[in-house]
Amino acid sequence: AVPLLDALGLVLAEDVRAPDPLPPFRASVKDGYAVVAADGPGEYPVIAEARAGDDALGVVVTPGTVAYVTTGGPIPDGADAVVQVEDTEQVAAAPDGSKRVRISVRVPEGHDIRSVGCDIEKDYIVLKSGENIGPAEIGLLATVGVTTVKAYRRPTIAAFSTGDELVQPATATLNRGQIRDSNRAMLLAAAIQQKCKVVDLGIAKDTEESLMEHMDAALRSDADIILTSGGVSMGDRDLVKPCLAKMGKIHFEKIRMKPGKPLTFAEITSNDPTKPSKTALAFGLPGNPVSCMVCFNLFVVPAIRLVSGWSNPHLQRVHVRISHPLRADPHRMEFHRAVIRWVLDDGSGRPGYVAESTGQQASSRLLSMKSANALLEVQSSGQILAAGASVQAILISDITSPPLDKLPAASSPISSHIVSSAKSASADAPQVAASQNAEVKVAILTVSDTVSSGGGPDRSGPRAVSVVNSSSEKLGGAFVVATAVVPDEVDKIKEILVKWSDIDRVNLILTLGENFILKKSLR
Ligand code: AMP
Ligand code: MG
Repeated sequence: AVPLLDALGLVLAEDVRAPDPLPPFRASVKDGYAVVAADGPGEYPVIAEARAGDDALGVVVTPGTVAYVTTGGPIPDGADAVVQVEDTEQVAAAPDGSKRVRISVRVPEGHDIRSVGCDIEKDYIVLKSGENIGPAEIGLLATVGVTTVKAYRRPTIAAFSTGDELVQPATATLNRGQIRDSNRAMLLAAAIQQKCKVVDLGIAKDTEESLMEHMDAALRSDADIILTSGGVSMGDRDLVKPCLAKMGKIHFEKIRMKPGKPLTFAEITSNDPTKPSKTALAFGLPGNPVSCMVCFNLFVVPAIRLVSGWSNPHLQRVHVRISHPLRADPHRMEFHRAVIRWVLDDGSGRPGYVAESTGQQASSRLLSMKSANALLEVQSSGQILAAGASVQAILISDITSPPLDKLPAASSPISSHIVSSAKSASADAPQVAASQNAEVKVAILTVSDTVSSGGGPDRSGPRAVSVVNSSSEKLGGAFVVATAVVPDEVDKIKEILVKWSDIDRVNLILTLGENFILKKSLR
């Protein structure tokens, strides 16, 4: 078990239940007055003040009285609704100094009250074993009082480079034939980024003896995964494969891919008779820095995830359009390094990802890996893919920032960007719920001038939502992920239908009302 914050990024190894309900008491949704709903509008004495964290214990709101409450504060007994401050008016205190308030609206019973357990029921399993622990999960653990967390441990990765030509990065002057060892620092950094513990084992010579020594040291370090770079291709000093074969079982020693063809994968076991034997996964990564890194992403990252307890170790893929033509290799699937970003028009007139190549793709040219956030999966064909062609891209880092030329100008203050993103977030956009588990994503569109102009309530939309959701099982796991109301206008209808089908990837759209205009829109 690890302390709460140390669990960030780990995978949970136990189910976690809520020991008590949330909220544990009836709580107010608003700052306002706890009332007896049946009382309705009028002027009432304020008999108590119940603030968050400060219960007006023992107070009972009887008909004809109200109590002041704040957001999250407990609702005094007797009250059955809350009227928000905005719907009240201060009135002068009574002669004896007691406070009074004018309630201007009638609210239904239960209004603006969170009932006990409405957010989390007592004994509800808030997190399941196998779930990834991110900030929200940390928050849930805190809310249910779990401060030491049972989680899968971080794997340990031991890495060493191989090559007689390699010298330490700090070497100022290179002799003929020498190069600085870049792979080891890169692999250690990549492993740290994947939340692993790392062991740096330096550089091995291209001799069986030196390689064996380093492998032994890696096993002694208790590594779950051993990474080597270099020495796996076809030269007479490429001795990593025979060395791995001696120490265990090689599962594969070549892959038809570009770059990364010589990649070797084995399981090896220590032969130290004084210690219990421990098996480690060993990756013989290619020496060329790009091949090394591509293989790390495609093979080692999923392995790390499996050891870390992830149930789905696969890298995320997205569809992208390429902004330049690409030549596909005739024989091998190529993993073309690229920077991808989301644009409002990906060339087809619709939003999507576009990919820009990182340039010359030689496997020795580490600059082709710089800034790359995706590997384009280019199927072997020998053909040229035209600009605008759609390919699959494997994400190798978070797409958190646009490329440099798209950064906000240095002169504009950061606050203005925050304000503009707040504006776009609050724009009157139709709502799309992130219901990832839905097997059949359903969206419901109410087409009505009256409803969309606020001239009346949407009666059929909510009805349709509850019909779909309540027959979810019958409908193969159908679930409503989006609803919207639009006026009887072809353009508006088209816009939302295109968004739902092309961007939100909704499986089924139900429309309500105005069939004549609708049919026109569907053309
Ligand atoms: P190898 O597979 O050992 O023949 O290495 C292939 C290419 O990668 C050679 O040009 C090596 O010099 C280069 N290389 C191997 N290991 C490293 C390393 N750790 N850092 C930078 N380049 C390397
Ligand atoms: Mg070598």
